[in-house]
Amino acid sequence: MARSRGGAGCLLAVLVIILATGAFVSYKFKLLWWKTAAVPPPSGKELQIHVLDVGQGDSILIISPENKVMLVDAGDEKNGQTVLDALKRYGVQQIDYFVASNTHPDHIGGASFVFNNFKVANVLWNDFPPPEAVSDQTANKNSNQKQGKTQAKNQPKPQPKPATQHGKVVKFPTVEAFDNFKSAVDGSGAQLKKAEPDQKVDLGGGAVITVLAPVPPPFTREQMISSRSGNESNANSVVMRLDYGDFSMLLTGDAESQTEDRLVGRESNLYVNVLKVAHHGSKYATSDNFLKHVFRKDDTQPKAAIISLSEFNRYGHPNQDVLNRLKAAGITQLYRTDLQGEITITTTGKVKDGHLFEIKAAKEAKTDLWTGREGTKDDSSRSGFITYGDYEPARRQKKK
Ligand SMILES: [Zn+2]
Repeated sequence: MARSRGGAGCLLAVLVIILATGAFVSYKFKLLWWKTAAVPPPSGKELQIHVLDVGQGDSILIISPENKVMLVDAGDEKNGQTVLDALKRYGVQQIDYFVASNTHPDHIGGASFVFNNFKVANVLWNDFPPPEAVSDQTANKNSNQKQGKTQAKNQPKPQPKPATQHGKVVKFPTVEAFDNFKSAVDGSGAQLKKAEPDQKVDLGGGAVITVLAPVPPPFTREQMISSRSGNESNANSVVMRLDYGDFSMLLTGDAESQTEDRLVGRESNLYVNVLKVAHHGSKYATSDNFLKHVFRKDDTQPKAAIISLSEFNRYGHPNQDVLNRLKAAGITQLYRTDLQGEITITTTGKVKDGHLFEIKAAKEAKTDLWTGREGTKDDSSRSGFITYGDYEPARRQKKK
């Protein structure tokens, strides 16, 4: 009896080893396939990418060679009209894909303007509502009281109680923006999909979007607090690459360095010609190690980086160290919406007249593009953890 049980145990162990080896080989094969899979040939028509000037926020309009339209983010509420005007200016008839890179108001606040004025066929998002929108008020209140008593020196400030006006609860700005976004999506009839790694979106004519992040499981607030940098909504941003022939661009949303580490660890294909710098040039993203995987040293094509932000922001965007890291990574072309307005990239996916792509800015920068800013009031200064994300209204710097 004992002998036959031992035999069964042996068989089981062999089976487990075979299965594990099989899983490992197929994982490695998938990675290999992923790295060598050819991008479809470009149709030769023009691909346009417009990084709109929406102040402190993101909104990127992609018009494919086959005129398919993807809008990544829509800025905050007060810049919704800017997005709308741009869509009309570029003759957009309908949005094939709206991507909410994260659920902070500087990315989805202007979305209802878009949904009320255009047919939107598909919505891609990170399936990560702002934590304030999911925690109920009572839980919030209780945790405030507890946190208040036990809060250590270096811990972030507890969530304040929701303010009330005439007995009515005034929503947090994140909750307000998220609720408006949700009802706009629900009322539009658009198909809502969760962005998953390796998911592809065919924009036609050879232009393809590949989702790289969020990589499950989602980053939690606790993780962010213990690593003392960033914010969980940002860290769970939708990150995508856009390929068209030899041209490629990385769209990073508000990814944090934790997001970047996961992408590098997963051996995602991060090499591109153009980088939309994560999180408005925040000090908590765009690490040296990440940049090593984004720009090839042997690439003879120019390397470009674009930062979307407002001139008046209290967060110290763009951070000087980030600009220095971009320079060290070999960036030859830096563009900033705060100094140059809307930035437009065009490409046929092939080298034409010596250039693979062309970048134009709406206006000339009056100050040095490679000079960063100091934060005026940063809620992460005590702990590294960003409690509220980047959604407070921009503050004008005091005159000296
Ligand atoms: Zn943002």
